[in-house]
Amino acid sequence: RHNSTSFIGLGRMGSEMAYNLFSKQFAQKSEARFVVCDAVPSAATSFARIFSAAFPGANIEIVATPEEATLASETIVSMLPSSAQVQTVYGGGIIPTLRNMSSDSARKTFCIDSTTLDVAVSRQVALDVIGTGACMVDAPVSGGVTGAKAGTLAFLVGGTESSFQAVHPILSMMGERIVHCGPAGAGLGAKICNNLILGVQQIVVAEAMILGQKLGLDPVVLSSVIGSSTGNCWSISVNNPVQSALPGKSPPCERDFEGGFASVLMEKDLGLAADIATQTGTRTPLGDAARRMYAEMIAERPDLGLKDFSSVYRFLLSSEAR
Ligand code: NAD
Repeated sequence: RHNSTSFIGLGRMGSEMAYNLFSKQFAQKSEARFVVCDAVPSAATSFARIFSAAFPGANIEIVATPEEATLASETIVSMLPSSAQVQTVYGGGIIPTLRNMSSDSARKTFCIDSTTLDVAVSRQVALDVIGTGACMVDAPVSGGVTGAKAGTLAFLVGGTESSFQAVHPILSMMGERIVHCGPAGAGLGAKICNNLILGVQQIVVAEAMILGQKLGLDPVVLSSVIGSSTGNCWSISVNNPVQSALPGKSPPCERDFEGGFASVLMEKDLGLAADIATQTGTRTPLGDAARRMYAEMIAERPDLGLKDFSSVYRFLLSSEAR
């Protein structure tokens, strides 16, 4: 288990993160063992095929369950959709397996969960993992699929100082900025606040880009002017929703909004923010409005629900025409 890393959840983000992690670990130690696990078997097999083709001789194995992934490796990284899947993978797989191991083996295990999920669920899972003697951090990410692919993600980490120090070398193989936000759940808290801004930002950028074009402005000029003015933000200068508006860059709109961050996941994150707002008596009127807009889009256009959330631009345009 010592030289082995398991990655659970090889989706849009996980596959890119695992690729960077494994390729760097392989460069350091050619005898390292890599284990992948996904509920959709083709996600794990296609990752293993691509990785093996790029790194012939690498020891990569596909397992069917989180139990097997836990038995195989001391380091376990998970990148799952949300709370329910984390509860299944940890509560129904990793934690019982750790409980059945020798305390020495359990103590050597490090779990890194990069999923964006409910803070209370994550804290409970961390408590249960730590109860077995193993270590756990919440380490959600910012930077999207582009950042995952480039290895430039920001990791927002929650956990003890010693756990943070222990997982830092692993996280730095997948990201550039590794920030210790506080105790268990703190990384998620920071992530959810960030996505509250992002969810609103992407809608208002769509609104401004539509309005500007109606005034006859060229989207390239408009994006460039806003990109160097006070309206500059990630949604205008990286995730711009208008085709050809960012020459030389390829945001999801250039691929019919494929890849990127699904609208259903953004709606989920705004729901996580809304839950915290309710629990703490905080008013979040713009976050609530943004959540309603994504929910409306997902209900009316399920196809856009699975595409990048910048497709809210297309939804606004299409709902105008009705
Ligand atoms: P995704 O849906 O593409 O990937 C999730 C993967 O988990 C899928 O391959 C799925 O089959 C697998 N999975 C689901 N249940 C499982 C289970 N029980 N056992 C094993 N595997 C299981 O999602 P994604 O876009 O990669 O996002 C993952 C997480 O990262 C989410 O919490 C999301 O909010 C967060 N996130 C995504 C982005 C982005 O741009 N996509 C950016 C930052 C954070």
